[in-house]
Amino acid sequence: MKPARFDYHAPATIDEAIALLARYGGDAKVLAGGQSLMPMLNFRLARPAALVDVNRIPALAYIREDNGSVAFGAMTRQRTIEFSPVVAARLPLLREATRWVGHLPIRSRGTIGGSIAHADPSAEYPAVLTALGGEVIVQGPRGRRTVKAGDLFETYLTTTLAADELVVEVRLPAMPTGAGHAFEEFARRHGDFAIAGIAAMVARTDAGRLTVRLASAGAGPVPIRLRAAEEILERDGLTAPAIEAAAARAAELVQPDSDVHASADYRRHLTRVLTARAVRRAGGVGKT
Ligand SMILES: Cc1cc2nc3c(=O)[nH]c(=O)nc-3n(C[C@H](O)[C@H](O)[C@H](O)COP(=O)(O)OP(=O)(O)OC[C@H]3O[C@@H](n4cnc5c(N)ncnc54)[C@H](O)[C@@H]3O)c2cc1C
Repeated sequence: MKPARFDYHAPATIDEAIALLARYGGDAKVLAGGQSLMPMLNFRLARPAALVDVNRIPALAYIREDNGSVAFGAMTRQRTIEFSPVVAARLPLLREATRWVGHLPIRSRGTIGGSIAHADPSAEYPAVLTALGGEVIVQGPRGRRTVKAGDLFETYLTTTLAADELVVEVRLPAMPTGAGHAFEEFARRHGDFAIAGIAAMVARTDAGRLTVRLASAGAGPVPIRLRAAEEILERDGLTAPAIEAAAARAAELVQPDSDVHASADYRRHLTRVLTARAVRRAGGVGKT
């Protein structure tokens, strides 16, 4: 199928893009990499009056280290992230997650801002944003505001952002030096969206205390930070019983639905298995 008719605009600045979004009163869509939006237009699942193509706004594409965080312009391509030395050094979890995103041509176009704004619960970037406690900076006609990961994802393919707001930046706290990480995922075929996935980071402070970060993908309408599972590991350490207890707790914390790809029970089971696997790998623990 072909998309329904739409007006097309390609602004050169963020302010122009915001003005266009405001002009259409919520009936315009931002076009980033187009990897999710174009199929939705072609299937007529989305019929916006206009597209605001932000590909020609140079101010939206950058990777910067900033005071213990890494800031990404919303239009930074997934492929750029995959090969960024800053990401390799400061956010190796994001780099690993990126390799699970579709295939090379998709990552060459797809953007970090688009993936997060699209809010597919099976997508990798929302899970990493949630695990690491990142935030997005959004700009709309009323100015700029910062939205924390925990306040961003509302339900399937829906964020708390207004239709006239643009994600301009995604910020992730740099991982502590020496922290372990793992992105474990199960998909039917390489490049498919995850049926379930787990983003994990395990860090040790100088005093030997553990900091654990865990978030789910694909096991509910939004990615879930698995705090109660993290707490088990931070309290009891990376022993085999603690890892099993944390994995079982993770499976209780997620709220999967059944769909054509998998039953809710299966997604829960995967969450348990993948949590244990991710914690072991991130924590450098051999399988017992
Ligand atoms: C075959 C295939 C396999 C894929 N597999 C995966 C996968 O395994 N994992 C995964 O995570 N993704 C996967 N994707 C999707 C891909 O990662 C997309 O890049 C991503 O979902 C959307 O990013 P985009 O830049 O292409 O955004 P677009 O498709 O351009 O936009 C997506 C949505 O976000 C909105 N939007 C985009 N940018 C902004 C912004 N800056 N501010 C506000 N709203 C914005 C758009 O209006 C639209 O509603 C796959 C895609 C395909 C076609």
